[in-house]
Amino acid sequence: MAINRVGLIGFPVEHSLSPIMHNAAFKALGMYDWLYDAMSIPPDILRLGLREPRDHGYIGINVTVPHKEAIMAYVRPDEKARAIGAVNTVDFRSNIGTNTDADGFIDDLRANDVSIAGERVLVLGAGGAARAAVYGLVGAGAEVAIVNRTRSRAEALVEHLRVSAGIGGLRLMTPNEAADWGMSLIVNCTSVGLHPQVHQSPWSQNLPFPAGRIVYDMVYRPATTALMRQCLAHNGRAIGGLGMLARQGAISFELWTGVKPPIDLMRRVLQDALESAHKD
Ligand code: NAP
Repeated sequence: MAINRVGLIGFPVEHSLSPIMHNAAFKALGMYDWLYDAMSIPPDILRLGLREPRDHGYIGINVTVPHKEAIMAYVRPDEKARAIGAVNTVDFRSNIGTNTDADGFIDDLRANDVSIAGERVLVLGAGGAARAAVYGLVGAGAEVAIVNRTRSRAEALVEHLRVSAGIGGLRLMTPNEAADWGMSLIVNCTSVGLHPQVHQSPWSQNLPFPAGRIVYDMVYRPATTALMRQCLAHNGRAIGGLGMLARQGAISFELWTGVKPPIDLMRRVLQDALESAHKD
């Protein structure tokens, strides 16, 4: 039986949950001739390393840290990837690179019945995940403001989205300004709160936390972050980033296979894997 291969490149990739998620979906759909595996490629040999999946007939790959930007030189980035400035999915049949983070994030907000159009949304962070979030939120009709520890990086994000996607009207704020802004949704796109720094929150303890808001935390290790707890303690609603992880993967899955993936199963498999990792 010829195997249809897809996979992940990154450095490191050993802790990635993508192989478990995609292989569970293949199995559930009886797609026994499909296999997803992970390849660790150091940054200095990315170009050479890409020959490995290409020469071995891989249909496509996901791309994770630290290659999401560098790989744009070796594939044909589509409009979305150019706008976000990063590729996380490649189809080797066309050599097109795309980015599924923005759609995965917006899909998950919608799956959780979070209103976006016309809403004020505060984005914390200014890295690659923030670029995808802002791009997706503006596309869905939100009014977006950004807070980041390093202001110059937030300025660079605003400039990038202006030039690459024609997005204007983004606001940069200090944490104090943001606290009074009256947003309905706060999206954490920083890595603050990520295991093992589970007690840290990107919302300073010295700032009052606005009541009754929704927090979407892209961090999914742990399932409930310190920021989510702050929000819940102030009569808010908190959603972790596991659904986004499943949904951005599901978009890649459908792109490569042409088959609709079992998203609920993929999410459950991710949750089980994280829970069992915590028991170790
Ligand atoms: P990145 O490009 O490295 O950006 C990291 C961001 O976190 C920057 O804005 C950085 O601020 C901020 N930050 C880091 N440490 C901080 C601290 N101690 N205090 C305040 N801010 C701090 O990373 P990324 O690729 O955007 O990813 C960000 C997070 O999103 C990661 O936790 C990642 O796992 C998560 N993510 C989740 C999904 C999902 O599917 N759920 C998808 C993509 C990413 P400075 O600019 O000041 O350094």
